Amino acid sequence: MKEAAPTRQRLTVLGSTGSIGVNTLDVIGQLGGPERFEMLALTGNGNIPLLAEQAKRCRAKLAVTADETRHAELKAALAGTGIATAAGRSGLIEAAEMDAGWVMAAIVGTAGLAPTIAAAKRGADIALANKECLVSAGDLFVEAVKAGGGRLIPVDSEHSAIFQSLEDDQRHALERIVLTASGGPFRTWTRQQMAEVTVAMARAHPNWSMGLKISVGSASMFNKALEMIEAKHLFDVTPEQIEVIVHPQSIVHSMVGYTDGSVLAQLGCPDMRTAIGYALTYPKRPKLNVERLDFAKLARLDFEAPDEVRFPSLRLARLALTRGGTQGAVMNAAEEGAFQAFVEEKIGFLDMAEIVEEVMEAMTAHPPAATMEDVFAADTEARRRAGEIAGRIAAFRKR
Ligand code: NAD
Ligand code: MG
Repeated sequence: MKEAAPTRQRLTVLGSTGSIGVNTLDVIGQLGGPERFEMLALTGNGNIPLLAEQAKRCRAKLAVTADETRHAELKAALAGTGIATAAGRSGLIEAAEMDAGWVMAAIVGTAGLAPTIAAAKRGADIALANKECLVSAGDLFVEAVKAGGGRLIPVDSEHSAIFQSLEDDQRHALERIVLTASGGPFRTWTRQQMAEVTVAMARAHPNWSMGLKISVGSASMFNKALEMIEAKHLFDVTPEQIEVIVHPQSIVHSMVGYTDGSVLAQLGCPDMRTAIGYALTYPKRPKLNVERLDFAKLARLDFEAPDEVRFPSLRLARLALTRGGTQGAVMNAAEEGAFQAFVEEKIGFLDMAEIVEEVMEAMTAHPPAATMEDVFAADTEARRRAGEIAGRIAAFRKR
């Protein structure tokens, strides 16, 4: 009797045109491409040529641009291919709701929240790069995944490292998790020097090649601040169990400390494809063509305590963690607003943390995050306030 052809794993990549998205398609290609994986949907925003090329290469069923004004361009680029197209928020939801068993959540920012929740609710396994889902919606997001019955597999390199170092039957002995941080390009700079930082300086990360938002977030350490909150929700730990250590080489991706004093770590070259591959084939490990660590060449690994005076973002994350409720959503949205103003050169680098703190302080009495509507309301309000403060600072700087 002829053996039935093995069924291909069905995938969707939300945010396929970004840094994580491109790496995800590389991993999928390395592991067999369309022969092994059936691509249901790919989504992007402004880069239509890349989205169209990816959709053809992966033989996707649907390609979606978040930008409605670019839909005609996408349609034209895919004319005659048989690949369906859609656009806007409803298009993103349509992509998320297709029947893929595995969904890469790699849209940047809060824009990723609604489509990722839609995929989680219908029970897909979520490979989570979009940390903003957990920072803003925390418990509600985790509940949506649980209700859907799919798995939540972290892709952020630190959280993947913890996930890999956390042995399931040892949870009772988990004492602490230690997030490593590269410290970014301004690790040794004074605040005076940091006040003069430009966008071009902030986006040039010493170890990782990433999207603009996360590169600037690594320079301000707001990325680490978001990751502390992400860790709390992923691993169900208390704020006191979360430590941050600066590790400039980005080789130790993070660690788990146990009650017997043991510390388990995951190491590797700074390449997101390792974490993406792990999330794709979990619980098995894939064979990947990525650089191997050469310990002799490496020679040393350095660690130092983070400086919460020069990098106030870490202190703000602790505040958000202890306050709970919508403070994560507030911190995240205020930071997105401040980041936007910084890349538009309206405000300085250090103003970002000032804005986030002011918005967080003004919104401590905001109602708890009981529903997604509460989260979206806090997000909108925090974004509005951040924009207002940024406008004030910009006007002052012009004088
Ligand atoms: P990126 O800016 O390179 O790509 C973002 C993707 O989102 C693109 O496909 C873009 O088209 C899409 N997008 C942008 N705005 C959108 C909108 N309004 N609506 C819908 N889609 C939109 O970002 P990235 O660096 O790939 O990061 C993606 C996510 O992964 C972020 O949450 C980031 O924090 C996280 N992450 C990234 C890295 C990394 O190495 N790049 C590492 C860890 C975690
Ligand atoms: Mg990370």
